[in-house]
Amino acid sequence: MRKTSIATVSLSGDLRDKLDAIARAGYDGVEIFENDFLAFPAGAAEVGRMAAERGLAVTVFQPFRDFEGLPEPLRGRAFERAERKFDVMQALGTDLMLVCSSVHAEARGGIDRAAADLRELAERAAARGLRIGFEALAWGRHVSDHRDAWEIVRRADHPALGLVLDSFHTLARGLDPETIRSIPGDRIFLVQLADAPLLQMDLLSWSRHFRTMPGQGGLAVPQFVAAVLATGYRGYLSLEIFNDQFRAGSARAVATDGRRSLISVLEQAGRAEGLDPDKDDLPSLPPSDPPRGVEFIEFAVDSERAGKLASLFAGLGFRPAGRHVSKRVERWQQGAVNLVINAEDEGFAHASYLTHGSSVCALGLRVADAEAALARARALFAEPFSQPVAAGEVELPAIRGVGGSLLYLVDEAAAEGGLWEREFPKPAADTATAADAGLLAVDHVSQSMEYDEMLSWALFYTAIFGMERTPEQDIADPGGLVRSQVVQTADGAVRIPLNGTRSHRTMAGRFLSEFFGSGVQHIAFRARDIFATAEALRANGVALLAIPENYYDDLDARFGLDAELLERLRGAGILYDRDAEGEYLQLFTEAFDDRFFFEVVERRGAHRGFGAANAPIRLAAQARSAATSADALE
Ligand code: MG
Repeated sequence: MRKTSIATVSLSGDLRDKLDAIARAGYDGVEIFENDFLAFPAGAAEVGRMAAERGLAVTVFQPFRDFEGLPEPLRGRAFERAERKFDVMQALGTDLMLVCSSVHAEARGGIDRAAADLRELAERAAARGLRIGFEALAWGRHVSDHRDAWEIVRRADHPALGLVLDSFHTLARGLDPETIRSIPGDRIFLVQLADAPLLQMDLLSWSRHFRTMPGQGGLAVPQFVAAVLATGYRGYLSLEIFNDQFRAGSARAVATDGRRSLISVLEQAGRAEGLDPDKDDLPSLPPSDPPRGVEFIEFAVDSERAGKLASLFAGLGFRPAGRHVSKRVERWQQGAVNLVINAEDEGFAHASYLTHGSSVCALGLRVADAEAALARARALFAEPFSQPVAAGEVELPAIRGVGGSLLYLVDEAAAEGGLWEREFPKPAADTATAADAGLLAVDHVSQSMEYDEMLSWALFYTAIFGMERTPEQDIADPGGLVRSQVVQTADGAVRIPLNGTRSHRTMAGRFLSEFFGSGVQHIAFRARDIFATAEALRANGVALLAIPENYYDDLDARFGLDAELLERLRGAGILYDRDAEGEYLQLFTEAFDDRFFFEVVERRGAHRGFGAANAPIRLAAQARSAATSADALE
């Protein structure tokens, strides 16, 4: 595997915390950011020792600013300043200094002038066994393009002077990363990687506050890395992520996300270049194989709530389809949907119940090869989970997901080959159930979380499972804004909307505080005919969320629906959305045990949305409903 590194500026804490987190996450090197060093009460030699003790090379000392193109006497002073930093570098034990292109008001342009300055600096560095890497800042005064920086390095023609490439500076300016392919790899001294969401703002603010790990933003980082690999560059790939959220977050979690993103982007780029992972020192892990569907959803409850949940499932048209071989665990089934009620008083589900109350404690994802999926997940730092199983029970590989819940990996062949019958052989309790309500499959499973966790979980699903991300959207809740982003397989077989909130007054926020953590807040089933399902649910006495009249008046104004359809929607409390690709019809149950709720959707045509336009209506209705049930309790 290529050598990886991360800049100290990417993480929270003091220099010691940062080095600990970086070493723990398995990086080979660390970029010492000058401000982190200046603010730390130990000398350079001591900091160098701290890195070495943790098995980390000091990749680079950075940044050295405003150097090239200055008139005297500023020029002479810049050289003196550099010599002082060379002393620091030698004590730190690094041989590479990053010089970024000047933004100095008095810097003069001219490629040859810059080349002459950098050549002299390289000469002085070489006298001490040091090297200089030159980087074009996207907002540099005269040099803001890696092609110009390379031309300067080329003209300076000194073995101790090379180029530093930074994906942000190239991609943020819209420069074509393919232009990197003509640079010789041995003249590139360092490659820094960062992504960023596509925002309209000045380059400096964008860079200093909004950078993210590769794969968390919207820049073409895999193409950039592919071009770098094509040059034959074999040095460090180093993350340099300025992000306010990361600097306030857990250093350990951010460092691990960074390694996950580096492995993932290298894998993608290597594959795009047709490179051999073993020969080319690239990560070698089973390819991502997007899940084929949600095989089951497991609910943790106590025995009292198990009965209530079973009644709700029966009301939704599910039928009991077997009891576990040895546990108080029941399977309910309808169409391709399997719901599992776990009322055990030991084991993982019970622990989840004790922590969260009634909860979705696990999702089963149907995959082509569960062992390969597990191996890939482990290679990308997912935490594997197992608990003792009794003789005759099936052991499914599992990893930890959002909020400590489990993701089971279910072999498609096993699911179709009698897995359920083996695991749930006992006939179900004789429950009176209504007819099927026309539910076909799980459409999506929404997870609520703190806003600061969203980037991390989106990366988890995309890197491990090869899922795609939609752009983030803001959704108005009566208690504040909620950010929403969907991760989904390309074919839509698995769709997971992630909802991040900063306010505990939003529906998602109330869920987080009452639930004591992140988790599944809502599950949507796809219906054959939502009107027939609505009728069945009403006949079964399932409490549905009441939608205000005003909504339907507005709907009429927006879409000009025909009168009969509008009346049917109104009568059934169904919400409606439409785009060029098709229609989306949805209804909601009231929340179960103040924890999670169900949605029924019908997709017409190729509609790929989730009714985002209706979300504020739904959230307001739920806020009213929650207030009513709180009043009833008082
Ligand atoms: Mg940089």
